[in-house]
Amino acid sequence: MVEKDRKWAMEIGQRCVECGNCAESCRLLTDLKKCPKTLALRGISWQEAYGCALCGKCEAVCNLGLSPFRMFEQRRVEAVKNKEIDVNEYRYLFPDRPVTVMSLFREFYGIDYAGLNMSVPSETAFLPGCTMFTYSPELTKKVYAALAKDYRNPILLDDCCGLPMYQIGLPARGDKIKERLKTKVTDLGVKRLIVACPNCYYQLKKENLFRGVELVTVYEALHNYFVPNRASNGSSEIYTVHDSCPDRFEGIFAQQVRAALEQAGYPLAEMKHNRQNSICCGSSGQLEHFRPEWSKEHHLQNLDEAAAAGADVLLAYCQACVLNIGDVADRRVKVKHVLNLLLEFEEDYKEIKQMASEMFLGEQGFDLYIKLLEEPV
Ligand code: SF4
Ligand code: SF4
Repeated sequence: MVEKDRKWAMEIGQRCVECGNCAESCRLLTDLKKCPKTLALRGISWQEAYGCALCGKCEAVCNLGLSPFRMFEQRRVEAVKNKEIDVNEYRYLFPDRPVTVMSLFREFYGIDYAGLNMSVPSETAFLPGCTMFTYSPELTKKVYAALAKDYRNPILLDDCCGLPMYQIGLPARGDKIKERLKTKVTDLGVKRLIVACPNCYYQLKKENLFRGVELVTVYEALHNYFVPNRASNGSSEIYTVHDSCPDRFEGIFAQQVRAALEQAGYPLAEMKHNRQNSICCGSSGQLEHFRPEWSKEHHLQNLDEAAAAGADVLLAYCQACVLNIGDVADRRVKVKHVLNLLLEFEEDYKEIKQMASEMFLGEQGFDLYIKLLEEPV
């Protein structure tokens, strides 16, 4: 590994004071019983690197600004390069392949966006993110319709931001996906890009990828559409907001979502871990594919904290968080997307997860599975 690739580990090896802040609620560091300094000096195994959720909490809470997270992320890239892990076993996750789990889901259940503008140039585009676009088509259409009241003929983008490729350890392929999106946005004359998914938002924001294009969250764009005091007609439920990993550093979604909910009159309680200190839902870093048992612990911990806060409903603003936490059989706390509440549109996330697994059952499921894996690597 060249020196520049080791910069995160070298910095931790030199400066970490072993305070232990970053290990609080980190499944990996708790399991390893080693502080980042020890790990940086002795080296990380590829299995350890894939046990990290890349959730960023360690960096967010380190008073010295060190980033164990980047050290693990970099180790993943090295593991792929050195062929320590056969990453093609996980190719069903690669969003740049012609057939993906999500494209199969849309095809299998006949999800389409006929009638919505997906290709005519416009100043405004809406990027829901792959997960919302695939698993919540009706919510996507509802958001699109609300945006279309204020913005002329917005374009609905079905693109990925490339994040899964970075998380898996294939950054060059992530760069290509982002570049493709940039070209599309430029060619379509987009001046304002409205984004629903916090992962997409920060992926595009951090490199200032779209110079000259205003990057806007869906909560900013719909600000005038959300009805003040909507909840005042009788909801006695208490809500809590689960903050998504990419938002922990800037807190843009955390602030806007709470403001919209408060304006609508929904009573809010805070979980023990929130905002920069939030516990990952279990999907970051593709953890559910590499360490599914830890991923499930994250789901349960979030539900436990929501229940302890006295909440009846856990709200998330990342569709992957909603699907993952909502997948756990827990009768105490309901799980919804913030937009379900603000746009008054209910969805059954357990049913959606069930649909996603049922399509791979039986003979027809086997055929789909073959189709998914047989495409070129
Ligand atoms: S929080 Fe920072 S200084 Fe403390 S153990 Fe973790 S990396 Fe080291
Ligand atoms: S990124 Fe998250 S899972 Fe990984 S070491 Fe940091 S806190 Fe732990």
